[in-house]
Amino acid sequence: MSASVLRFFRRLRCSQPEIAVAQVRELRPQIPLLYVLLTVNATAVAYTHYLYAPILLTVLVPAVLVVMSIARLVVWLRSRDTDVSPQEAMAQLNKTVVLAGVLAALYVTWALCLGSYGGPYEQGHVALFIAATVIGCIFCLMHLPQAAFVVTGIVSVPYLIYYAFFGNSVFIAIALNIALVTLVMIRVLQNGFQTFSEALRSQKALAIKKAEADALGAENLRLAHTDPLTSLSNRRYFFARLDEQIELSKASGSVLILGLLDLDRFKAINDTYGHVVGDRLLAEVGGRLAAKAPNVLVSRLGGDEFGFIAEIGEDGAASLGQDYCDLLSEPYPLEGLSLRIGCSCGMAAYPASARSAHDLFDRADYALYVAKEGRQSRALLYSTDHEKRIARDAAVETELRSPLLDEQLQIHFQPIVDATGRPVAVEALARWHSPLLGPMSPMLFIPIAERTGHIHDLTMKLLGKALGHFRTMVSSGISMAFNLSANDLTSPATVLAIIAMISKSGVPADRVILEITETAVMRDFELAQNSITLLRQIGVKIALDDFGTGQSSLGYLHRLRIDKVKIDRSFIGGLQEPWGRKIIASIIALCETLDLGCVVEGVEDEQQLQALQDLGCHYFQGYRFAMPMPFEQLVGWLSENGIDWQQPASKAHRA
Ligand code: C2E
Ligand code: MG
Ligand code: MG
Repeated sequence: MSASVLRFFRRLRCSQPEIAVAQVRELRPQIPLLYVLLTVNATAVAYTHYLYAPILLTVLVPAVLVVMSIARLVVWLRSRDTDVSPQEAMAQLNKTVVLAGVLAALYVTWALCLGSYGGPYEQGHVALFIAATVIGCIFCLMHLPQAAFVVTGIVSVPYLIYYAFFGNSVFIAIALNIALVTLVMIRVLQNGFQTFSEALRSQKALAIKKAEADALGAENLRLAHTDPLTSLSNRRYFFARLDEQIELSKASGSVLILGLLDLDRFKAINDTYGHVVGDRLLAEVGGRLAAKAPNVLVSRLGGDEFGFIAEIGEDGAASLGQDYCDLLSEPYPLEGLSLRIGCSCGMAAYPASARSAHDLFDRADYALYVAKEGRQSRALLYSTDHEKRIARDAAVETELRSPLLDEQLQIHFQPIVDATGRPVAVEALARWHSPLLGPMSPMLFIPIAERTGHIHDLTMKLLGKALGHFRTMVSSGISMAFNLSANDLTSPATVLAIIAMISKSGVPADRVILEITETAVMRDFELAQNSITLLRQIGVKIALDDFGTGQSSLGYLHRLRIDKVKIDRSFIGGLQEPWGRKIIASIIALCETLDLGCVVEGVEDEQQLQALQDLGCHYFQGYRFAMPMPFEQLVGWLSENGIDWQQPASKAHRA
């Protein structure tokens, strides 16, 4: 018994502070009941003994006890809604145990003093009062077993001794019964409290586990939403937030801007300086974007594409987009280099441009596409003009699918002449007259064919026609230039089909010049270089068209195995100015150094021709000599300009 009592107290001492808080919470509604019970029962005993016992025992002592009980009752009631810390709860429980012991001692002493007064009924009332009250107290103290145990001990022991000496066998039996009942109750209470403590402990352990799982989940979610390279949020997070933001804007009526940022020349840096530098550059881009406008959500959508969502008006969007472009175009000091990239930005506004996330993204993407067509580093907001362009592009795309397309396509030829005005080559230029849409510039339909996946078929149709015409004039000794689109050069299937077509055409491959653009080379240098190698293996010549308009890199010029450069016609305007002439002179000098042929495009008048000849140009193309013309017309033009059809091929000049 004593061992189990010790164990019991040890267990109670070990009760965790968190359990103490729960104990106080459970005791708060019960202890006031205990004091009510004591007060009512004591008053009843005092009342029944009023005529038999001294006033000290029937009025004064019970009055003091009742006042003490009511005071404690008020304290407990007032503290009912206050929060307690674990330490405060422990202190309150200890205090309650001590007070319970003191009150139990006072009450039992008082009751036993009354026990000898009155007749059997009054004496029986005292015995019942003690027994019933101690059982009631044990119930009320079930969440504080120390107190229940103390009360039981302090009440039961004197109670037993008193009635043992009292001598009445009925009272002795009652006292023994009560002692037994209280012991059983204490045991049951102890078990109940143990279950209560364990439930609390496991609840706490569960809460800790849940908190850990929640923290882990939150961290996993953060990682799942973060781009590790830039520490910006990633594509998944971006689109989830876009949906949310659209809903919020719908409710508040605010304007939402979705922006897409695409880095220019990033691929070239990656190819030239390697992925480590490329990664560091992207991280720096992420840092700049994050620091620029903290209220704007910026995410990395993949590769060198970033997106932002901003709740600003359309006017604010224009400047924010341009600010981002300018910011990212600032030089990047990395690895002892000063790297420069450009940035284009396309934006769309909710609800003006589109009402769903998908459409908004499409519109911003279209604005980005248009922005990339123009000068570098500019921002464009999707507008009604773009809406019209999309409708027109869709009509062009439909017509590109027409089974009659082949009949509607034509090739015009524009001569390329040497310094004496003698034709050395012709450039094949695509012409399309759609019965529905009218005549269309290749500048319009070639990019649409590229975007919509029709370019392979279109290139093959045009090359077939150009070779078909040119085969009949092979004996003239001149060459034929044909334009390849950027997609052609980076598509191995198209390159192989071109090689097969040229090989079967009956035209000597070394009389075909394929014109490629810097854009194609910059898109995928390795792939472009492989294509060039393959094409050159059959003898085809390669010319770099529109030189100077794209992202020219002297490094590329040197590494690419090309045969000639075509200086873009936009340089012709600069001939009036000393700087313009200097640029052309330096390109010509560069070509000479690298042993490359050099043709100047867009020569329109005599003055320009003279200036170009003074700068050392040897080959020209432009309206000054001839407009692009149908094949039938070209035949006449060539013979008027000294091309003898029977002339041996060896007499032709190298352009
Ligand atoms: P490009 O290859 O640079 O062709 C030269 C363009 O300049 C032609 O425009 C030609 O008409 C124009 N041009 C020639 N001389 C002068 C001049 O003195 N002044 C002015 N202002 N312009 C001149 P076109 O035929 O409209 O072709 C435009 C572009 O479309 C071509 O530029 C080429 O990049 C592309 N293209 C043309 N045909 C084809 C084709 O069959 N396939 C591909 N992929 N692209 C083509
Ligand atoms: Mg060309
Ligand atoms: Mg050109």
